[in-house]
Amino acid sequence: MANHTGNLFIIAAPSGAGKSSLIGALLNKYNDGSMQVSVSCTTRAPRPGEHDGVHYHFLSVEGFEERIEKGEFYEWAKVFDNYYGTSKKVIEEGLAAGIDIFLDIDWQGAQQVREHHPDTCSIFIMPPCLATLEQRLRRRGQDSDEVISKRMAKAQAEMSHYHEFDYLLVNDNFDDSLAQLEHIVLAQRNAIAVQQERHKAVINELLG
Ligand code: GDP
Ligand code: ADP
Ligand code: 5GP
Repeated sequence: MANHTGNLFIIAAPSGAGKSSLIGALLNKYNDGSMQVSVSCTTRAPRPGEHDGVHYHFLSVEGFEERIEKGEFYEWAKVFDNYYGTSKKVIEEGLAAGIDIFLDIDWQGAQQVREHHPDTCSIFIMPPCLATLEQRLRRRGQDSDEVISKRMAKAQAEMSHYHEFDYLLVNDNFDDSLAQLEHIVLAQRNAIAVQQERHKAVINELLG
């Protein structure tokens, strides 16, 4: 058991804004076991190159609904007609082990997570403009025209929730955005509530 609990981070954005790439790059940089991304469950079909257990746990609708019934999700939501959800066990075990956990989830999931865990640090990512968002979805080359249209149609609805988050990043230049994300994460590690727990003994001794 770690002497402190990990921090919970939510990263939300319209599809294609760059959240998976930014989280992936940050985790690559901090390859020390101190951070982890939560692998969600979903009923959407795997994209080319996506592997079960790595990008998502791919479930049938029946399998997903069974898990809802059993209360196995920390949060779940329907996004683009598919179910998406975060496993309770993975989050609770990761945080108890002192690991910072990143949730790549939509605004509906973010609202549920804040209720369970008010200390969550939430970050919203926007593209520099709508044309760039569409270009990124097309360049990613993993979704059909129909899926891309659906995601573009939902982008403004997702972005309308930006003010519910603690931080906003406009992901124009990737390296700048990555540096800003890193600063937010490092600052959060030094927040009073976190440090009080981590350095309880030192603080008690200093204050007598
Ligand atoms: P992407 O947006 O292009 O990365 O597409 P995805 O299919 O990976 O994600 C679709 C939507 O589902 C996004 O808004 C995600 O933030 C959201 N999402 C992914 N995993 C979860 C989850 O575990 N819970 C919730 N509530 N939303 C999720
Ligand atoms: P999300 O997870 O939000 O759906 P991705 O991380 O998959 O988005 O990014 C969508 C596409 O845009 C990917 O092909 C990624 O390489 C690209 N991308 C992300 N951020 C930038 C950026 N700042 N400049 C240019 N391309 C980017
Ligand atoms: P994609 O299908 O492109 O992988 O994801 C679409 C959207 O679903 C993204 O905005 C992503 O953040 C969201 N999403 C992925 N996993 C979860 C999850 O576990 N919970 C919630 N609420 N949203 C998720």
